[in-house]
Amino acid sequence: MNKRVRVRFAPSPTGGLHIGGLRTALFNYLFAKKHGGDFILRIEDTDQTRFVEGAEAYIEEALEWSGIPYDEGPNKDGGYGPYRQSERKDLYKDYALELIEKGHAYYAFDTPEALQQHRLDHEAKGKTFIYNGHNRLKLDNSLSLSAQEVANKLADAKPYVIRFKTPEDSEIHVKDIVRGSVSFKTEVLDDKVLFKSDGMPTYHLANIVDDHLMKISHVIRGEEWLPSLPLHLQLYEAFGWEGPEFAHLPLIMKPTGKGKLSKRDGEKGGFPVFPLAWKESMGYREAGYMPGAVINFLALLGWNPGTEEELFELEDLVALFELERVQKSGARFDPEKTKWFNQQYLQKADNSSLLEGFKSQILLSYPDVEAALVSDISLLKIIDMVKERAVFAADLVSLSSFLFQAPDSYEEKAVKKQWKEQSPNILKDVLKLISNEKVFKGPSLEAAVKGYISDQELSFGAVMPPLRLALVGALSGPNIFDIMEVIGAPESQKRLKKIIETLA
Ligand code: GLU
Repeated sequence: MNKRVRVRFAPSPTGGLHIGGLRTALFNYLFAKKHGGDFILRIEDTDQTRFVEGAEAYIEEALEWSGIPYDEGPNKDGGYGPYRQSERKDLYKDYALELIEKGHAYYAFDTPEALQQHRLDHEAKGKTFIYNGHNRLKLDNSLSLSAQEVANKLADAKPYVIRFKTPEDSEIHVKDIVRGSVSFKTEVLDDKVLFKSDGMPTYHLANIVDDHLMKISHVIRGEEWLPSLPLHLQLYEAFGWEGPEFAHLPLIMKPTGKGKLSKRDGEKGGFPVFPLAWKESMGYREAGYMPGAVINFLALLGWNPGTEEELFELEDLVALFELERVQKSGARFDPEKTKWFNQQYLQKADNSSLLEGFKSQILLSYPDVEAALVSDISLLKIIDMVKERAVFAADLVSLSSFLFQAPDSYEEKAVKKQWKEQSPNILKDVLKLISNEKVFKGPSLEAAVKGYISDQELSFGAVMPPLRLALVGALSGPNIFDIMEVIGAPESQKRLKKIIETLA
């Protein structure tokens, strides 16, 4: 690549960032980092009617949390600012006027009512009203009016918009890195409004001007912008600018594979579609996902490295990412698979990184717990014991609850199946055995109990399940001897005595 790679994520602050938006940001980030380039955040807030308070802060926080911060943007000047279009609004009009001068745009004075009437008339005839070369001379604009009439209207401050003059009857060939060559016939294209009567540019004009001024080399964005591409390319041509390269990312589809993933799908299926909570919608962060897991599953929505491998840290993604490997077809979203990713990341996480969160949740749930049980050493051992079965960090608490609180009942089905006539006597023997243990450690307890089993010629099944029931209240949980070590001698003895009394 000879040009410096500069890419931008250009959201409109109209609400929380959907994970599809975060995926667009991620692909831009990966591409920039892979090529040693710049990842820019530009806030496209020219449509004041759709502006939502807090949305920009949300977008910034989402990028930060995901671990893909921008190099240049609203709060990080890189010499191409400002990065909010509302703060750049004075520069766009001159560009619109430049296009008029060059004969690529014109003033249009048609009132909203007049345009609506045209639309209705067309609809009545089963047609669609398109404002372009085939009818623009019959409409109210600077191409159909005389120079004097136009001058008068402008002098009288008649409201106007500036429209792009789409070339007639030609075909535009566009090249997209993901989609290859696509062609469009201009006769179906509208003379799009570039500059609005409220003095603001439209998305199209501001987008093109800013991409040019910010020296954007590649535009990587969602497929929904593909229909705008012919106009954007024509605008570059009209200005005489060399345009960037384009890559349009495939849509993220519903879990069923049919239709675009929406906020409603998340509500119905009970999974987040936002990285962070937004208003009443939950977020991946709040649902307990680790940022690395979210980044990993997003990366695979529409891209793959060409192997079966699925687990990638951010730096692996940077090394492997190629726009050429982005797929054309929609990427089906699988909420169950997202959990699998989190589970994988949780297993890889350092136990010490989970300690603080685990400790505060345990202290909150069990305020009266014995100090030794919540020492860092003890909690790290507990994390190690139960982590294997956890999908989310919060699961560590439920998976280890029996360590902090003795069972107050015994699972009925398990009792029926595993509590035999000889069980009380066996547990009495085990109780004696463990009471004699000087060092109350897992391995020595295990040796003692196993020695007893073979001396008495008992089966494992006669001893272990009742012992587990006594300690856990159910037949689940980690290694029994580790459990005894963690809860300690007095508590282990207490639990054995209790089951003998209760189920005798
Ligand atoms: N402001 C547009 C959006 O909200 C940006 C589209 C583009 O990247 O060109 O997605």
